[in-house]
Amino acid sequence: MNLDLFSDSPEDKPKALNAFELASQKASELRQILHRYAYAYYTLDAPEVPDAEYDRLFRQLQEIEHQHPTLATADSPTQRVGGAVLPEFTSVRHQVPMLSIRTETDTGASGAIAFDARVRKELGLTEDAPQVSYVAELKFDGLAMSLRYEKGVLVQAATRGDGEQGEDVTHNIRTIGQIPLLLPSDVPVVLEVRGEVYMRRDDFDTLNQRQLQKIADGIKGEKTFVNPRNAAAGAVRQLDSNIAAQRPLSFFAYGLGEVAGWPVGHPPFQNHYAFLQTLKAWGFPVAIQTKCVLGASGLVAFHQEIAQQRDALPYDIDGVVYKVNELALQEKLGFVTREPRWAVAHKYPAQEELTTVLDIDVQVGRTGKLTPVAKLAPVFVGGVTVTNATLHNEDEARRKDVRIGDTVIVRRAGDVIPEVVGVIIEKRQLGTEIFTMPHICPVCASPAVRDEDEADYRCTGGLFCGAQRKQAFLHFAQRRAVEVDGLGEKLIDQLVDAGVIRTLPDLYKLGLTALVQLDRMAEKSALNILKALEASKETSLPRFIYGLGIRHVGEATAKEFARHFGTLDALMNASLEELLQVADVGPIVAQSVLTFFAQAHHQEIVAQLRACGVRWPEGPPAERASLPLAGKTIVLTGTLPNLGRDEAKAMLEAAGAKVAGSVSQKTSYVVAGSEAGSKLEKAMALGVPVLDEPGLLALLKGDSNDSP
Ligand code: NAD
Repeated sequence: MNLDLFSDSPEDKPKALNAFELASQKASELRQILHRYAYAYYTLDAPEVPDAEYDRLFRQLQEIEHQHPTLATADSPTQRVGGAVLPEFTSVRHQVPMLSIRTETDTGASGAIAFDARVRKELGLTEDAPQVSYVAELKFDGLAMSLRYEKGVLVQAATRGDGEQGEDVTHNIRTIGQIPLLLPSDVPVVLEVRGEVYMRRDDFDTLNQRQLQKIADGIKGEKTFVNPRNAAAGAVRQLDSNIAAQRPLSFFAYGLGEVAGWPVGHPPFQNHYAFLQTLKAWGFPVAIQTKCVLGASGLVAFHQEIAQQRDALPYDIDGVVYKVNELALQEKLGFVTREPRWAVAHKYPAQEELTTVLDIDVQVGRTGKLTPVAKLAPVFVGGVTVTNATLHNEDEARRKDVRIGDTVIVRRAGDVIPEVVGVIIEKRQLGTEIFTMPHICPVCASPAVRDEDEADYRCTGGLFCGAQRKQAFLHFAQRRAVEVDGLGEKLIDQLVDAGVIRTLPDLYKLGLTALVQLDRMAEKSALNILKALEASKETSLPRFIYGLGIRHVGEATAKEFARHFGTLDALMNASLEELLQVADVGPIVAQSVLTFFAQAHHQEIVAQLRACGVRWPEGPPAERASLPLAGKTIVLTGTLPNLGRDEAKAMLEAAGAKVAGSVSQKTSYVVAGSEAGSKLEKAMALGVPVLDEPGLLALLKGDSNDSP
């Protein structure tokens, strides 16, 4: 959000106001908006804007209050911690307040260096004094929790609330497996352990998938969560602990609240690092990355090391926290209003930011999938400048209701493609329009269709569509299809990018000159490609049908079509009813074939391929039922002494058998070679007859005595 509070335009600046009055007005405006955002974030667990935006406005207010200290009113967000206690919860007074941590927003090494310099100055250390020892921890992106144990038993869990008073959420916290309910006997009589409740990213994804399903099932009041922090905060502040228990939460301990009655009269540690080791010994999870480091260089190294690991961690962090290690020094440094002087949170570049949607484009992928993509006003997020963010598919775009002109939250974490997390509805201008997916392909203008039970629209242009060209060539040339030896991904990329081939028939028009002009293509290799292309012309009908890459038509279905219709023309001219008569073909496959051949450009491509000399034997339609192994299902496993797997499969299929991948009651035979594994065991367990290679050959010759 671009709150232009420092605008100098004459309308904005009432002439009668002096600099102080102006600052006062701006401060009041900032306080108001920060209060609103803080309430949405802390109390409702539904942030209105990304943290980066909140932090920016917060810093603006801090700056004004720094210049005019009298403006720092007691109710200013800069002077207070967190949010209000909701009336639904019993409030808990914290005997030791739960404070915030000063944030260092300079995400570079200088942020760490500045903290060390400040600590040294406040401790009055001279330049030649030894380096300060720090504990460097992760800054978990969850919510702070105070766990109160009396005589080793968990009696209360409370949120931070406003720092003085939190909410009693014991019923929900008890459902977190990582939080010990009972501690060993050597703990103080009263012990408050503080830490962060968070949600792992995989748990968050599973939760959101479940939420999406509930929404799809029409369950009222369900929603997806914006990020793991929100989901965790929402779960902790559930009134019904059954709901909280279904939302998997985790915990890391890092601090201490009220303590009384140490067994030996004093704590068994004098520094923060030893305290964390004690927490571990008592059964609390402490992050393994926690380190004891020396001086500014130690802090900088830790910041950089964790930056490398950040994306691979199973949970979100928004920075690291540095704490002065020696408790005596911590005491000496003390506190300012809402934060200790001995700690700082050193942030990483924000992974969520605000920007504007300039346009919504629809992109077509290699497989024909249409993806709506928001074109954004450039924004620096997750360490890079982002100008595009995926809206995934029609349902997602609708659910988020992203429109051209909207102000949106963009997220980019790690290598994940940037995405639009949500829209700031209050910023929406009048007259914006709901986005609808186009029903024709934006690249080739073929119809785009969305199958039942699928989220994506797909272009039906297949062989003709420019976006799907590379995929189409690769599919056609593969070993199981028309097989052009040596025509792999790299060469196809080169040929398509150079504009040498556009549709499949262009392959057979390739000449030596065009090939040798490609990068790193020697004449010998080029000749080999031409030879392979020539050899590929002699193919079979099933291979050719499969090679066309018709959606839903795999190798086995292509074989069924070839067997059923006998000729390509019969298949191309078949009606929906005729297609549905083919074994194992249902309405989705039949419709896909019908749509494919109904397109004039596909008919043209087939005709051209034939004209180029691509040919296959054709015959009358085979009567499946009359084949010797019709109705038999056979599973191949292990290595046969002489026959290759594909060869055996082709022989069986030619004899009318269906070759399946897994053994069941319905399997007629299992053909087992050497190193056959679980399939053989299953066949034995189910009593399915097992054949070796000679047995298979006998079966094919019709010599088998078995009749399962
Ligand atoms: P903070 O979250 O920056 O720091 C204090 C908190 O850090 C502690 O309460 C604790 O929960 C947590 N923490 C995580 N790891 C820790 C560790 N190893 N040691 C100690 N504490 C650790 O401060 P804050 O005052 O709670 O809130 C400020 C944050 O909340 C900012 O990041 C701000 O962007 C965000 N916020 C966002 C909005 C919004 O609208 N998006 C509104 C309010 C606040």
